[in-house]
Amino acid sequence: MNKQNNTQNASTNHSFHGMKADARALKITGWLTGIYFIIELFLGFYSGSVAVISDAFHTFSAVGGVLIALIANKIAMRSPGKNHTFGLIRAEIVGALLNGVFLLLMAFYVLWMGYSRLQQSIELPTNIMFLSAFGGLITEVIAMRVMWKSQKNNLNMKGAFWHVIQTFVGSIIIIIAAVVIKLTGWYPIDPILGMLFGLVLFVASIGIIKQSFNILLETTPKDINLDEVVKELNEIEAVVNVHHVHAWALTTGKNVFMAHLLIKQDADHEQVLEKASQVFTNNPNIYFTTVQVEKKHHEDNEAEFIDYTKSSTQQKHSESHNAN
Ligand SMILES: [Zn+2]
Repeated sequence: MNKQNNTQNASTNHSFHGMKADARALKITGWLTGIYFIIELFLGFYSGSVAVISDAFHTFSAVGGVLIALIANKIAMRSPGKNHTFGLIRAEIVGALLNGVFLLLMAFYVLWMGYSRLQQSIELPTNIMFLSAFGGLITEVIAMRVMWKSQKNNLNMKGAFWHVIQTFVGSIIIIIAAVVIKLTGWYPIDPILGMLFGLVLFVASIGIIKQSFNILLETTPKDINLDEVVKELNEIEAVVNVHHVHAWALTTGKNVFMAHLLIKQDADHEQVLEKASQVFTNNPNIYFTTVQVEKKHHEDNEAEFIDYTKSSTQQKHSESHNAN
């Protein structure tokens, strides 16, 4: 006889309400950067400055990045249905992955452009550079402000946020380069700063891609101490062993935990379940749990999974499997 237990912790750091706020922040950012892109492109063509034109395309990439994040956010907000019982919450992670790849390509582009500019420097009109950069700084500071809170614990928002940082740093680089050129006439400062920025972008994009894959490939979330949770479950008096242990994240901040508890023949299901619930309540990083309490094993293919026998909790990959 099996008993299923589902607990849902109230402390979700990314609720539906939060997602609506995210969407609003993304929309403001999208409009701001979109309008600024058109102005900057105009300034670039008006002056003939390649530096400003290329920064305009940076800005355009940010608009695209924000748009991807917004679409992912909209899909993720759909409520669960029979055909997608988790909702489509993980669309956020797909969005983050696309954004990460996009950022990576931009990093290569910036590095390549800086390199070819070092080979052949061009004259840059500093006044237009200043004008364009200051316009950028204003829109970017506003965008970063509205996105700051949500990007901290949401990977999708983080991807979009990094796009804005990219254009923000791009604006600062234009200002520094314009000042140096005005004072010294040394043009290579522009591609050198640009390439340094490309390296930062490269590291950031790898980080986002890596985190996305961790969630898509269902690795154990870093904020769940699996050994500790299993140890606490094993400490429940009637529990003989804990097996079929899985922990993964639906999306950033929504961790799921699942386990089977083999209990003594004379033990009481309800009591064990009650004590198990307490373990999960004490662990705020677990969003949703499913626990099967059983007096004999029911699985066919359990050999595939890690077994946590009561006596050897510390032993992560215990080979012995004391079924019954
Ligand atoms: Zn089992």
